[in-house]
Amino acid sequence: MRFSDCYIPTLKETPADAEVISHKLLLRAGMIRKLTSGLYIYLPLGLRAIEKVSQIVKEEMNYSGFNELLMPMVQPADLWKESGRWDHFGKELLRFKDRNGRDYCLGPTHEEVITDLVRDEVRSYRQLPVRLYQIQTKFRDEIRPRFGLMRGREFLMKDAYSFDADFSSAEISYKLVYDAYCRIFTRLGLKYRAVEADTGSIGGNFSHEFMILAEAGEDTIVVCKNCDYASNIERAEIAWDGEQCTDACPAICKVSTPGAHTVSEVAAMLDVPEASVIKTMLYMVDDQPVGILVRGDRQVNEIKLRTMLKAMKVELASAAQVEAVTMAPLGFAGPVGLNIPIYADAELKGATDYVTGANEGDVHLLHVDLIRDVKITAWGDLREITVHDKCPRCESEIELTKGIEAGHIFMLGVKYSDALNAVFLDETGKEKMMIMGCYGIGISRVVAAAIEQNNDEAGIIFPPAIAPVTCILLNLDPKNSDVSEKVEQLYDILKKMNMDVLLDDREERPGIKFKDADLIGAPIQLVLGMKGLSKGVIEAKDRRTGEKVELHLESFKQDFETWAANVKRGWQNRV
Ligand code: ATP
Ligand code: MG
Repeated sequence: MRFSDCYIPTLKETPADAEVISHKLLLRAGMIRKLTSGLYIYLPLGLRAIEKVSQIVKEEMNYSGFNELLMPMVQPADLWKESGRWDHFGKELLRFKDRNGRDYCLGPTHEEVITDLVRDEVRSYRQLPVRLYQIQTKFRDEIRPRFGLMRGREFLMKDAYSFDADFSSAEISYKLVYDAYCRIFTRLGLKYRAVEADTGSIGGNFSHEFMILAEAGEDTIVVCKNCDYASNIERAEIAWDGEQCTDACPAICKVSTPGAHTVSEVAAMLDVPEASVIKTMLYMVDDQPVGILVRGDRQVNEIKLRTMLKAMKVELASAAQVEAVTMAPLGFAGPVGLNIPIYADAELKGATDYVTGANEGDVHLLHVDLIRDVKITAWGDLREITVHDKCPRCESEIELTKGIEAGHIFMLGVKYSDALNAVFLDETGKEKMMIMGCYGIGISRVVAAAIEQNNDEAGIIFPPAIAPVTCILLNLDPKNSDVSEKVEQLYDILKKMNMDVLLDDREERPGIKFKDADLIGAPIQLVLGMKGLSKGVIEAKDRRTGEKVELHLESFKQDFETWAANVKRGWQNRV
């Protein structure tokens, strides 16, 4: 590829509406352009990166015995009504009608379509397992599309599905994908972690997310410093196994707390630790108010709440709802006398004599004993884990890091086979439900996440496996025929070596070429100008380490091969 033939519209200025680094750099490096909110055009270089990721994903899925197919993006509403998701998927599902007034949606995922396919074709246990995947555009009308390719409305996903005769076989399918994903992210040259995850709106029995580690990640992951436990904070368990406190608690009394709305204000005013104040949070759970109690210095984990209450929808109550339930202004809710279901975090059993809101403006209660004074509907693990908690598996220290969810795999069990009646006949002729799994990788998000993990002030530092071009060859003096002739020769050699090379043959100043080369992020830069030619050397730079070496033009092919192999090895060692 010659730069002069390519459409690579790099930008000097950072576009104003880009918040995260990958979004800024993808725009600046001329890899994507925004069409409208959450919709992006993949420009030639961006598309090459996406295709490199797709190719590795395909190779590893094929190797695992999954077969590629391609399903329509447009899906009939009937299937979604059958699965029940027409009503439950919410506004992310973009719905429309055809000319005959029939309802359709744009596929945000394909469980319904694939289950419909397989239920009509597979009758006998002999035909199982069925393991299929596709790489295809998805549409989700996200509330807040943002961060460029990280959270688009339209994006590219690899989605795979497995159908098995029983759970042990389904676990094999699951493991095949788990292992394929480990190979994929390793080959991509990315630092990642597989973590235990919540099953969300897809549902099912258990699941893992594959997180690409990066500061800009929207997810927090919990990693044990000792064992291999790793989990999304959304579901990281806290095993509270303390003794229930039986200390006698003085009688409740009211105390005036003018203007103290927050836990820290109340704790400061009453001169007690925040841990002695109970935070009473009101939620609307499937549209019914419930009270949730956690220690003042803790956060409620809404995912755990949803799981514990087996709820479809969990929303923080609005100020008006809180005031209607507590008959008090916001900031003074408390559990004593509150006539709604109350769920308390297990840890609160460990003490007594708490401070709570009094359901009365500017008043709190002292000496609350939850067992004595409150009707607790149930106790449970309802709070978010903190870095001071212990690993739920081995009780060692944990750490928290940020990750970008790049892949998500689910053991679905019979959730969809049940709803869509995907059954088969077993060896004894008995009808059974197929056990399903589904497995996604956000191909376009992976490209953005790779950039979040690998960049510097000058631009993108692409891992070799994802880089749209592996090598950029800069001709610093295109007007000089000796230099140009040599550069052309090297360009030929590189192409014959199967190197993905971009020749910067533009009549631009060297400064501009250096800047664009760094910005685009090719792992290898080769630079030749008059000075080098006269010395018989070409400069080679490793984009990741910044290390530069001079390679002899005479023995270019061998020297380059050895050096380039080292650059790639450096990437592998890093993962
Ligand atoms: P998130 O929690 O980030 O919204 P999700 O749980 O909705 O993701 P899945 O339904 O598991 O995502 O989809 C599989 C994969 O598709 C995700 O792991 C992610 O890589 C990718 N993905 C999901 N939503 C988007 C999006 N809006 N833009 C780009 N990629 C996405
Ligand atoms: Mg997910």
